[in-house]
Amino acid sequence: MRTKQFKAESKKLLDMMINSIYTHKEIFLRELISNASDAMDKLYYHSLSDGNTGLSRNDLEIRIDVDKENRILSISDNGCGMTEEELEKNLGTIARSGSLDFKQSSEKQEDVDIIGQFGVGFYSAFMVSDCVTVVSRAAGSDEAWKWTSRGAEGYTVEPCEKAENGTVVTLHIKPDEGEEDYSTYLETYTISSIVKKYSDYIRYPIRMDVQTKKHKEGTEDEYEDVTETRTLNSMVPIWKKNKNEVTDEEYESFYREKFYDYEPPVKVIHSKVEGAVTYSALLYIPSHAPFDYYSKEYEKGLQLYSSGVMIMDKCADLLPEYFSFVRGLVDSEDLSLNISREMLQHDMQLKVIAKSLEKKIRTELKKLMENDRESYEKFFSAFGTQLKYGVYENYGQNKEAVQDLLMFVSSAEKKPVTLSEYVSRMPESQSDIYYACGETADKIDLLPQTEQLRDKGYEILYMTENVDEFAVKMLMEYEGKHFKNICADSLDLSTDEEKEALKEKNEQAKDLFERMKEAIGDGVQAVRFTNKLKNHPVCLTSEGDLSVEMEKVLNSLPNAGNVHARLILEINENHPIADKLTTLASSDPDKIADYAKVLYAQARLIEGMPIDNPTEISSLICGWMAEA
Ligand code: ADP
Repeated sequence: MRTKQFKAESKKLLDMMINSIYTHKEIFLRELISNASDAMDKLYYHSLSDGNTGLSRNDLEIRIDVDKENRILSISDNGCGMTEEELEKNLGTIARSGSLDFKQSSEKQEDVDIIGQFGVGFYSAFMVSDCVTVVSRAAGSDEAWKWTSRGAEGYTVEPCEKAENGTVVTLHIKPDEGEEDYSTYLETYTISSIVKKYSDYIRYPIRMDVQTKKHKEGTEDEYEDVTETRTLNSMVPIWKKNKNEVTDEEYESFYREKFYDYEPPVKVIHSKVEGAVTYSALLYIPSHAPFDYYSKEYEKGLQLYSSGVMIMDKCADLLPEYFSFVRGLVDSEDLSLNISREMLQHDMQLKVIAKSLEKKIRTELKKLMENDRESYEKFFSAFGTQLKYGVYENYGQNKEAVQDLLMFVSSAEKKPVTLSEYVSRMPESQSDIYYACGETADKIDLLPQTEQLRDKGYEILYMTENVDEFAVKMLMEYEGKHFKNICADSLDLSTDEEKEALKEKNEQAKDLFERMKEAIGDGVQAVRFTNKLKNHPVCLTSEGDLSVEMEKVLNSLPNAGNVHARLILEINENHPIADKLTTLASSDPDKIADYAKVLYAQARLIEGMPIDNPTEISSLICGWMAEA
């Protein structure tokens, strides 16, 4: 018989299992039981969708058998089984290879990470055994196959006999070694407690023969050895239990196992609803984004159960896009078991459930924000971007639902604040919500336009993500306060007299500005004096809806058009350069063009925008330096 090699990734994982120093090796049993349970779900589900009602859930069970003497532990199920190809495919490669983002190093420490992270599945059997065989017969087939492996050197597959459909996984338990007591996995007591700990809710009975002593009938003190078959699990799914019957650890371990997350969630939402529809939901808000979250690969959705039977793995219709990070499941008796995917989309009950879940999630997130700010901030740093997209999506259709969950870092304490917090501490003289866009808070602080706001004691919200300004433009206002970009030309905090004086000054300098604009070219719409700068000589502002930051974002998108914000070059009327320009206008107008170019280049650089003519600018400046 030919020994076949594992695929490279599988081999790596396998090596890691075999040499594992992981302290919770017992989870191998959880993994194998979970596979068995899945296999029975599949069989049951298929029998339903095939219209074959001959199969009853009661016919399905998981068995654990122990042969201490030969160090054998086996887990059997009468589920869907595997064909020869499936054995090859499923056990020769890692199903979740996509999510197994191996860190390159093979340091032993790292196995803890991987195992905790993904619950590694079938291969975890190799943490406790030196030889694993899988005998399987697919439902509907009359052939059975035996897969055998002693570890990393490969595996064999050969035909064999098996009376019924299903799978038997047989482990030859490793000899004890040093601190490692593998023999414990052959003890019925250990096995029962592992099952209780991790697999109690499994919906099929997990049965094991247990040797006990019983009173010999008709005697007072004589005992005999008897074998009793016990069901080790309670079979009540965790979400069907009452909240006070479930410990935090149980919620957490269920989460890890089911959703392959290595970090505990920031929030568990367990709710039972009765009324127009009746359902139980167990939802989790993860504490970090999965590696593929912000990519097309990520599939949102909740598991959907109908009276305890899973009918869909990722029901996308249960979650709005802006809450796509929520993991969990919903179980309702109001849904028909045989419902197809297409029908589900139009199912009224499902719509009602989705609506009620959305509200629940929103309320719980708000509570978290109010009662456990640290966790909320953690959550927000992982999924805030998604919420902001939520505001922007569908032309702002959901903005009301999401706006209260948003946070932006503000200039006051350099900490994230909610919009409601911002508004509540606005000084009386302030009528708008001010924001500024840039790569980082520090860079925004350097913008000349921030000076006047700081002087007035107004807070600025830093928008450092691409989506930020788009979201804010969609919101338009919050609690009646409008959002104002501090870099927009319309921002004007001066008094009427100041405005009038400035207008006059600009009027007088009309020719000067005409000349400057001519020298700069299409880059700017206009040049003018401003009173909004304190120390800085120049700034760029934008006119109309498209801001400088939006221009940057839009131009960086794939197949971007070449969009341009309408820019105004503003010159600080109180800076000596303003006087210098006015003087030049009458004494040496030919020099104005060079001044204009350099001032414009400076303004672009301050905004973090590129310049087209760096050599020209450099030689102009050096020329002046040499003269000075
Ligand atoms: P996962 O269960 O996460 O997919 P595993 O490595 O545990 O990963 O198992 C790989 C695949 O092998 C499963 O997806 C399933 O298709 C198949 N498999 C494992 N155990 C069984 C079983 N007892 N019956 C049927 N198929 C099984």
